[in-house]
Amino acid sequence: MTRKIAILGATGSVGKSTLDLVERNPERFEVVAVTAATNAAALADIARRTGAKLAVVADEARLPELQAGLAGSGCRAAAGQEALVEAAAGEAELVIAAIVGCAGLGPVMAAVEAGRTVALANKEALVTAGALMTKAAAASGATLLPVDSEHNAIFQCIACSRSEDVSKIILTASGGPFRTATAEAIAAATPAQAVAHPNWSMGAKISVDSATLMNKGLELIEAHYLFGLTPDRIDIVIHPQSVIHSLVEFVDGSVLAQLGSPDMRIPIAYALAWPERMPTPAQRLDLLAIARLDFEAPDVERFPALKLAREALEAGGSAPIVLNAANEAAVASFLAGDIAFPEIARLVARALDSNDLPGPHTITDVLEIDRTTRRRVATSMQAVCQSC
Ligand code: NAD
Ligand code: MG
Repeated sequence: MTRKIAILGATGSVGKSTLDLVERNPERFEVVAVTAATNAAALADIARRTGAKLAVVADEARLPELQAGLAGSGCRAAAGQEALVEAAAGEAELVIAAIVGCAGLGPVMAAVEAGRTVALANKEALVTAGALMTKAAAASGATLLPVDSEHNAIFQCIACSRSEDVSKIILTASGGPFRTATAEAIAAATPAQAVAHPNWSMGAKISVDSATLMNKGLELIEAHYLFGLTPDRIDIVIHPQSVIHSLVEFVDGSVLAQLGSPDMRIPIAYALAWPERMPTPAQRLDLLAIARLDFEAPDVERFPALKLAREALEAGGSAPIVLNAANEAAVASFLAGDIAFPEIARLVARALDSNDLPGPHTITDVLEIDRTTRRRVATSMQAVCQSC
């Protein structure tokens, strides 16, 4: 039986891996909607290849280009936030949420409220609105399937287990490109060095988050909302080979782990085929070639972002939204060459220290806290840039 799917963020790294799997299994899926931020030409190409009925570009100025690219294809072109929501909550049964950043929150919430099955890669949506999203999913009957490799691993390990039998979960982290670098070398890191991840091929923003370890901090918050565990029951361990994707410890002392080569097509395929499995072309694990697996504690002195994320989760209220917004703004500035690498964590720390915003009751509140924080960080950043 074919499943109707929508791919939000189809032109990105997770989007492309999803398309690769969908195109290898045409009998399983019917792509009904695809979206992108600005790249109308790439989106039109994807829509034509997949036979999608709706293609949405977030940037309204790109609509004429998308319309031209889709002329004669039978695919409808649309643009803007409302159209993104239409793609997410339209006829698709399964929505692949692969937009990067808080920008994906509106469409993800629309899919959740419409009771869809949501394969969630867009961790920032859950970090900023975790409580509201899980409540909305419970009300609508929506299913959240984690695509992030660590959360997908935990989801696989706890399948068929009772939640009261889980004592803790252990998220693994590669340690990123600066795992063994000195504080001085990290301070001088360039955007090109920061995005050169040793194990995974990913979009620029998450690659920088992996270099600061903020990615693991966001994943800590993501795990809290997905699996309902308090922060003290979520451990983080550095595992440079990225072979064990995460582990679950049960009350009897048993520990289950999910292993595989570092290829996002494995967790994406699990979410696409769930509750079944489907073949992928991912490289098989060769234990003899890997030979050893290493583990070490994260160093919060060189990578303070991890500590900031844990503090934001423990503080609750608006803190996780402020953490995420400040990080998104700072990472964009770092990638543009405007600030140095250590300024990312410093700007996030400053935003959290001066945060006086009340916790959100609605998604509108979340988006307002996000906007206010970005404005405040922009002001802090001007001060940083003037002093250097
Ligand atoms: P990416 O930058 O490669 O792609 C992002 C996609 O989102 C693109 O299609 C882009 O056009 C779209 N987009 C960006 N800004 C948008 C906006 N304002 N409005 C609408 N669409 C917008 O990112 P990615 O690496 O594919 O990551 C996507 C999400 O998945 C992120 O939240 C990331 O943390 C998460 N994730 C990625 C990986 C990975 O291997 N890449 C692994 C785990 C989790
Ligand atoms: Mg991950």
